[in-house]
Parts: sequence; structure tokens; C-alpha cells
Amino acid sequence: MRMSDEFLNVQLLISGTWQDAADGRTLPLLDPATGETIGKIAHASKKELALAAEGAAKGFDAWRTLTAWDRFVIMRRAANLLRERAQSIGRIMSREQGKPLEQAIIEIQGAANVIEYFGEEGRRLNDVLVPPRAPNVEQRVLHRPVGVVAAFTPWNFPINQIARKLGAALGAGCAVIVKAPEDTPASPAELIRAFLDAGVPAGTVSLVYGEPAEISEYLIAHPVVRKISFTGSTPVGKHLAALAGAQMKPVTMELGGHAPVIVCADADLDKAAERLCAAKFRNAGQVCIAPTRFLLEQSIAPTFVEKFKARMNALKVGRGVDEGVTMGPLVNQRRVKALHDLVEDARAKGATIWQAETAIPNEGCFFAPTLILNPTLDMRVMQEEPFGPLAIVADFTSLSDAVAEANRLPYGLAAYAYTSNERTQRLLGEKVEAGMVAINHHGIGVPEVPFGGIKDSGYGTEGGPEALRAHTYIKFVSSEQA
Ligand code: NAD
Repeated sequence: MRMSDEFLNVQLLISGTWQDAADGRTLPLLDPATGETIGKIAHASKKELALAAEGAAKGFDAWRTLTAWDRFVIMRRAANLLRERAQSIGRIMSREQGKPLEQAIIEIQGAANVIEYFGEEGRRLNDVLVPPRAPNVEQRVLHRPVGVVAAFTPWNFPINQIARKLGAALGAGCAVIVKAPEDTPASPAELIRAFLDAGVPAGTVSLVYGEPAEISEYLIAHPVVRKISFTGSTPVGKHLAALAGAQMKPVTMELGGHAPVIVCADADLDKAAERLCAAKFRNAGQVCIAPTRFLLEQSIAPTFVEKFKARMNALKVGRGVDEGVTMGPLVNQRRVKALHDLVEDARAKGATIWQAETAIPNEGCFFAPTLILNPTLDMRVMQEEPFGPLAIVADFTSLSDAVAEANRLPYGLAAYAYTSNERTQRLLGEKVEAGMVAINHHGIGVPEVPFGGIKDSGYGTEGGPEALRAHTYIKFVSSEQA
């Protein structure tokens, strides 16, 4: 059954079969723009998790024995199905997550590109012949799929976060058990449906929901599972990495950030204000790579702030499915409270709080686009990732001070700068400690380049050939001919 605006009934996918939990347990699915219940989600118990692991082992055997070309053909078909269905799946995503429909559709099209890329890249996973030191010896270096991957994904990009993990794993020949987010479960189910319709063997992709800690503890320890991939907050990431370490299983961790953006006096300020406003308030700021600490060269700070405020006032806040809306609600009330607490803490410690003069709906999980001016280091928001429509504005007089502030936090995911000086561009590219640095634009996140962080923002990459390789093990085979 395809889902549109009717009550959403999200099931588990185990061994290629959609099913409810055996004990009938469900969770409610809420629309964050209205608070209304719009569906229900099957809640897996350990029994279903055991069946999912068993099914995934069979799915892995079936998938790894296909040729890389056949896997690519299925993945390309899944990508094309997603493209065809982008409008209807986008509507589901917009309803359950809140983001504007246009952003949901762009996300789905981006996910299709990611899947197609990894399918293609899987065809280039070449084995290597190493010249031997002795005659009649053949030395082969083989890259083989690591096995079943347990993937835990968050609600901010319900489809794209899964597409990166699924794409890299399937492209390498692995099977995947996805634990998708309970806040936004229905659009991920449609992504998985596209793979089933495209012809992935039963069990190659499984989908479960339930109690996140119970599922991760169970799957990470399960002998069938050979790799862990998580996107979410740093504390949860550290916990899961420790569980995986105890089992000697490799992990990819894409965690939080607190991205600095350095705006120099020689920057094109109109372009910077336009692009930074779009990047900051996309998905209501619930983006791990969103610019957060705006470090402005003192001489242009007042001008930049006025330009930025004008753009913030032009944001249209409302239900994602409504025409012309550019910013939706936060995903749940927990996030509204988290943002509220950070702002009140900053206010109490002397910050100036400015909020956009745009209408904000009275119901649902909305939060006004906000600037925190005159911050001091004792404010929580200067340490913790806000993960919402909130920017912190500070100024600097020397570039080395700006770099020191950019590198102050234990995070190191994305960082940005605006400057027309090529020497400064190169210097910032070298000196700023982050997994990704974008200068004068926000060109981060295309499938063929690395995507990942350093320090507390995690390790591993979710883009480029390295992401695929992280789902393989290397085997050396040496043989002497008699
Ligand atoms: P969270 O880390 O608690 O949850 C993020 C996701 O991880 C959710 O989908 C959740 O179901 C899952 N999760 C939580 N505990 C888990 C566990 N023990 N095992 C397996 N999965 C688990 O974060 P949240 O409260 O939903 O969001 C708040 C913070 O999370 C944000 O401030 C941000 O730092 C971070 N976050 C980061 C990203 C990202 O893209 N890096 C995405 C979403 C959230």
C-alpha cells in the first residue's frame, strides 16, 4: 500500500516481508506542525530483532554473490524509483518531519544520486595484484564486503542519512539492518520500498523501529552484525562506539558539530548574507553542518548583521506542506525546549536576543529564527550544539583570533569562511580544524567527496570511495605455483 495523506501505518521489514510487531506494540507518529497523530509505527521486540539478524545473514549471502554489475543495476533502479516517487514521498516526509516540501524533494533527489553513485563505485572496487619477490608466486589483495551492517540514523534528513549508509554498504556488497528514526519513520519506509521494488533479495535490507538503546545493544552484540554506522549526537555516538569496541567491530560515526563561519572584511557581504541565511535556516537549522558561530571581522560586523536580519525577516515560517513556506517546525517538543533553554541561559548571562519579525504559528513545535548577540564563553550555547534556527554572532579583529575561536570546541565537522583573498582562503583551509571546510559557498555533501568529521564529531566518511572501502575488509592471498 502506498502512503499519501491517509493515516500512516509504518511496519517492520524482516526477510523481505512487511510486518507488524508480533505483540502488536506500536508507537504514535505525530505531525510536528500541529501535534496531531498522523500514524503509527510497529515497535520491534528482541524476537523481531533476532529474526531480522537471521534474515540479514541470508540476504548478505544472496547479495554478495551477485556481480557488482547486477548490484549496480538494482541500485540504479532503486534510485530511479525514488526520483519518480519524489513528490509523494516528499509529502510524507514534510508531514512527519516538518521541513518544506521543496526541501524534502531536493533531499530525495539527492539521496537518489548518492545511491546511484555508490552503485557505480562498487563496480570499481578492484582487487590488486602485487608483484612478487619470488618466481611463480602470485600475490593478490582482495576487498571483500564486511558482512551485515547495523545502521542507526536520525530524523533530520530521514531519507538522506539512510541513503548514505545504505548506498555505501550495498555498493560494497554488504547487507544492512536499518534502525530508522521513530520521529520520522514513514519516509524511510518508502526509501526501503524502492529497494524492494527494484529487486534487492529478501533480507538484504531490513528495517526496524522500537526502543533505540535496546535495538543498538542487541544488534551491536549480535554475531551476524559485522559493522556499525551511526549518525546522531556525540554522547550517543561515544556510547555506541564503546559497545562496538567491546565486540571488536568497526564503526563509522557522524556526530554533532558547532560550525564556525569566518566572515572577513574583504568578503562579498550580500552573497555571504544570502548564502549563510539559506544554510542556517534550511531544515529549521536541524543540520549537523549548519553554520552556528558567526565570527565577523569587526569593521563589517554591523553591516553584515543588518543584511542578515533583513534576510531572516523574509523567512516564511509554517507547515512544510503549505505553499511558499521556507522554514518549518522543529521535529518535536523536546527540541523546542532545548532551544528555549539555550536562549534563556544566554539571556540570563547578558546576551542580546533578536528574533525575526516574521509570523510564527501558535500551535506545533515552531521556534522563531533567532540571533544571539554579544555572547560570552560561559553561555551554554557557546559549548553545546543548538541544532535549531539559531545563530551566534561575535566579532574579531585579527584572523588568528578568529581561527583560535573556530578551533576552541572539541567539535570538528564543518567550517565556513567568506573572503575574496586567495591567501586567506588557503590559510583557513589549512588552519581550521574540521573534516570539511567550504569557502565562499556551501559545497559540502555531494556523493563523490568525503563527508565526515574529526575530534568529537566522529570518524570515518560517508562520501566518496573511502566510504565504500569502509564497508570492506582487506584479504591478502599469496600462492606459489607448483
Ligand atoms: P540523539 O543522539 O539522542 O538521537 C539521534 C538519533 O539517534 C535518533 O534518531 C535516536 O533515535 C537515535 N538514538 C538515540 N539513542 C540511541 C541509542 N542508544 N542507540 C541507537 N540509536 C539511538 O539526539 P536527539 O535528541 O534526537 O537530537 C539532539 C542532538 O542530536 C542534536 O543536538 C544533535 O547534536 C544531534 N543530532 C545530530 C545529527 C547529525 O546529523 N549529526 C542528526 C540528529 C541529531
